Amino acid sequence: MTTILALDQGTTSSRAVVIRADGTIVSQAQHEFPQLFPAPGQVEHNPQHLFETTVRAAREAIAASGERPTAIGITNQRETVVVWDRRTLEPIGPAIVWQDRRTTDRCAELKAQGVEAMVRSRTGLLLDPYFSATKLERILSDPGLRRRAARGELAFGTVDTWLIAKLTGGRRHVTDPTNASRTLLYNLQTRTWDPELLRLFNIPIEVLPTIVPSSGIVDDTDPAIFGSPIPIAGIAGDQQAALFGQGCAMPGMAKNTYGTGAFLLLYTGETVPDPVEGLLVTAAANPTGGLGYALEGSVFIAGAVIQWLRDGLGLLASAGESEQLARSVADNGGVSFVPAFVGLGSPHWEPEARGTITGLTRGTTRAHLVRAGLESMAFSSRDLIQAMLAGTGLILPRLRVDGGATANRWLMQYQADLLGVPVDRPDCVETTALGAAGLAGLAVGVWKGLDSFLATRTFETFEPKMSVDERDAQARSWERAVSAALHWAQAVEPPKEGVVQNR
Ligand code: ADP
Repeated sequence: MTTILALDQGTTSSRAVVIRADGTIVSQAQHEFPQLFPAPGQVEHNPQHLFETTVRAAREAIAASGERPTAIGITNQRETVVVWDRRTLEPIGPAIVWQDRRTTDRCAELKAQGVEAMVRSRTGLLLDPYFSATKLERILSDPGLRRRAARGELAFGTVDTWLIAKLTGGRRHVTDPTNASRTLLYNLQTRTWDPELLRLFNIPIEVLPTIVPSSGIVDDTDPAIFGSPIPIAGIAGDQQAALFGQGCAMPGMAKNTYGTGAFLLLYTGETVPDPVEGLLVTAAANPTGGLGYALEGSVFIAGAVIQWLRDGLGLLASAGESEQLARSVADNGGVSFVPAFVGLGSPHWEPEARGTITGLTRGTTRAHLVRAGLESMAFSSRDLIQAMLAGTGLILPRLRVDGGATANRWLMQYQADLLGVPVDRPDCVETTALGAAGLAGLAVGVWKGLDSFLATRTFETFEPKMSVDERDAQARSWERAVSAALHWAQAVEPPKEGVVQNR
């Protein structure tokens, strides 16, 4: 039977998953690689490790599946920067990882120049070290490298581009719009590298890859790598791959990943949406794997609240126990828990806020506290979704979910209740790999369209049951707790007259 090989090159490991045309997973393999921390705030990977662990995982998964895959789909950690010699394919240094903060000062300098509004309107992003441009600028600040770059001797890429260059023996230097849209160099409107942004970040256009569709045959792999050539036919950044893998390619469809934090993307359509305060605009795959757009935002603390209740307070033996405790009480007993441990994100944007628990009484038990902790994941996600819907005028038909905390069925039901729409949890949680496989499979005709790809998927659906009055009452209690957290953050003592302030 026809299979597709999905390569998922992540931040801590490289994975390979072989997926059948009927959507089932035949085999998989995974290898970790070292995280390099050369200085505080700096995070690097060895580009050769990224390639070698990917190839090793791929060979193992192919061998275990017992057949040659029809095509390869690639998905990857986003924003991470690699620069190599075009001729020898030797990296000129380590990959600078998305988490790396070494260009914080450069971003502050650019902000002080007043260019952020221009950058935001073109790229949908913010001036933050997270994105690729200032990292690449830093690498090319070496005069020798800059001269080589301008002569066309060096190639830049995000991890997709690097892997494809290596897999094709240097024949292809390409990326797709979802990865390009994370660099700060890609103009969402013109759908190409932006000359003014290249000037701003001092990037010679000669180093940049060609942008190809997320779904489409790029080239065959070098026969030496897998024994025979295999076409590479799909490319997407990890979050956009998950969005596509969850079938979210109609305006208003969204996926939420409940991990340590929560990661939400809402597909908006094929024209660039207006910016929404505190959220990013990013390229995504449309139903045919062509260019669409999505809003992206995150909840800083999601599953981490359960980790804290378990490890910080010792209220839980395991994360899974939270479900049984939540079910053991009729309600939260009036307790609301705003886990603003690192400030409040979208839509409130208050970095000084901290965790706040309201409504405690003598009757409060650990079950109430744990239940309020779980509820916070659903409320924070709802706040983010509401900001996205208000900003776009779209309607959310249903929410697709993945990530570790979706194991909690009580939480899934509560999320459906709060949103008033069904929550779909896929049976196969490998949404990122599935998305990459889907994009590749569409290109080589394994699936005729998104519908036939989605027909291979099954979801468990949690239907909303709560009455509107009940939902509004619970939301009111959460909103009061959020305003208490905001008030606490903003209620700083004014300086007393006549007293010299220590600074
Ligand atoms: P990440 O990829 O961010 O490490 P995962 O997707 O592996 O996260 O999910 C792990 C997170 O999910 C942890 O923060 C954990 O507390 C939370 N979690 C796991 N199981 C449950 C559960 N049954 N109920 C609530 N939260 C859970």
